[in-house]
Amino acid sequence: MNSGEILIVEDEEKISDIVKSYLERDGFAVTVAGTGKEALRLIKERFDLIILDLKLPDVDGEMICSTIRQSSDVPIIMLTAKSSEEERVKGLGIGADDYVVKPFSPRELVARVKAHLRRTRKGEKKALSFNKGGLKIDTLSMEIKKRGKAITLTSTEFKILLSLAERPNIIFSREQLVNIVQGYDFEGYDRVIDAHIKNIRQKIEDNIQKPVFIKTVYGAGYKFIGVKD
Ligand code: CA
Repeated sequence: MNSGEILIVEDEEKISDIVKSYLERDGFAVTVAGTGKEALRLIKERFDLIILDLKLPDVDGEMICSTIRQSSDVPIIMLTAKSSEEERVKGLGIGADDYVVKPFSPRELVARVKAHLRRTRKGEKKALSFNKGGLKIDTLSMEIKKRGKAITLTSTEFKILLSLAERPNIIFSREQLVNIVQGYDFEGYDRVIDAHIKNIRQKIEDNIQKPVFIKTVYGAGYKFIGVKD
């Protein structure tokens, strides 16, 4: 599962390695720039989010931030030193979306990354429709319609259904689904996911024994098999 493309601009390998591995564990594709020069070259490519250390040996991080802003509104999370409030204020002033103060918890950073991506993506998407209008998902209003008739899902059920439906035919393991629901890994919650899937099926499927939307892949997880209109 690819949750998005992230660029990390950070000269301290110890930090970029940790952040990279946490992001990759959550399905992100990660590119690391160890110098400002490399960053300036890489920002011409398309990323979903950029994590930018302001203190780089060769090029000023703030300069990189304003260079990005000249051509893109990609979310930028700055990494700043503990003491430097001035640095933070300046960074936000030149277009960064958020900052994380070093030393930081990688989990917290990943949570922020996800929150920013949710925000950007919300603006882009409207309605998904499957099986000739048999199932419609409005991602903005969170409305679900089964053959035109509104049905009610809990917010957890909605999150699961939307995650599956956004990537048809991709298998999601129960662990991944728990992660989507909770925002982090949770052990022993496989049965909770099965219960949610069962509820979703009762609401969107005609015959839960022969689902046409969410299919169980034995030993692996679930995948969405609806056909996009
Ligand atoms: Ca640095």
